Amino acid sequence: MRIPLLDLHCQNDPLKERIDIVLEKLFEHQKFILGPEVGELEKKIAEYCNSVYAIGVASGSDALFLSLLACGIRAGDEVITTPFTFFATAGAIERVGAIPVFVDIDPRTFNINHDEIERSISESTKAIIPVHLFGLMCDMDPIMMVAQKYNLFVIEDAAQSIGSLYKGKKACSIGDLGCVSFFPSKNLGCFGDGGMVVANNKELADKVRILRTHGAVDRYFHKEVGINSRLDTLQAAILGVKLDFLEKWHETRIENANYYNASIKNPMITTPFLPEGYRHIYNQYTLRVKNREKLVNILNKEGIGNCIYYPLSLHLQPCFHELEYQEGDFPISEQASKECLSIPVFPGLTIEQKNYIIDILNNFS
Ligand SMILES: *Cc1c(COP(=O)(O)O)cnc(C)c1O
Repeated sequence: MRIPLLDLHCQNDPLKERIDIVLEKLFEHQKFILGPEVGELEKKIAEYCNSVYAIGVASGSDALFLSLLACGIRAGDEVITTPFTFFATAGAIERVGAIPVFVDIDPRTFNINHDEIERSISESTKAIIPVHLFGLMCDMDPIMMVAQKYNLFVIEDAAQSIGSLYKGKKACSIGDLGCVSFFPSKNLGCFGDGGMVVANNKELADKVRILRTHGAVDRYFHKEVGINSRLDTLQAAILGVKLDFLEKWHETRIENANYYNASIKNPMITTPFLPEGYRHIYNQYTLRVKNREKLVNILNKEGIGNCIYYPLSLHLQPCFHELEYQEGDFPISEQASKECLSIPVFPGLTIEQKNYIIDILNNFS
């Protein structure tokens, strides 16, 4: 049996007729840049995130970059984030000229350890980017408290967590800005790159909106230097169709995860931790495995998709050499990068496939 890590056909193929209809409409009006579908999707995403504003941009990476620009983060400023995340989080900080300041993670959740944030704050600190990794939100109350105390912006990296909940609050609705990605492998993926910035603050939302069209307030009159980063009308049209199915897909991922949680019984393997009061949307179902290399070899031999998110903690990346971090600076993150392993959890995974995977995991020693 071959099982991919993610089979997009399961979610996209049943929607072909609906997607054909919106593409037909697009072909008629041909408003390819910021056409009506973009505004419609922005409204729907803002509403879905229990927020007021949303601005469609070209990717989740650009959502982070534009959010930092909108908050006025510039050269020399420091931004606190986790070293255990996709590269884009720290990449965006560097791109605005600021300095990523890493804080180690909680070993159970893989998310930033809020207890260690305060001691990393300096006079140059301007913002915190908590990353809601794998579909599980960060413990936001203490993060917001420390941000308020030191007057810092909070930009939620919700690229993997649209629809995730923390104490009844949606991802993106708590911080000053929230960043979403529509990369095809996210829970809500488009047919290419896409992203969105979500906001409750009008001033910041307006800034992001202006910055995504080169900082033009009126066409060809530029108040600031932005970039060209818009969500294509084409992608917005497709996302408009897919959004109606997102809750169902989340529920299926959660069912798959619950089934794994109840069935995987192997002292070598730790299943994901779910704290009380959270809704995990399992963009990834990530195990901790002792002797991971051996298990990866078995899974590969059996044709079961798997991936290591992420194999090298960001503080040890060659491009951040100048930040002068060393091995041992963030031991929890480093250990996670040696033990984590994600396995298929996508909606559409059959019971036979799940049982097949569980059998292999339970027989691993
Ligand atoms: C995917 C992802 C991003 C970047 O999104 P893109 O749309 O691929 O640019 C940023 N942060 C995290 C945590 C991600 O998983």
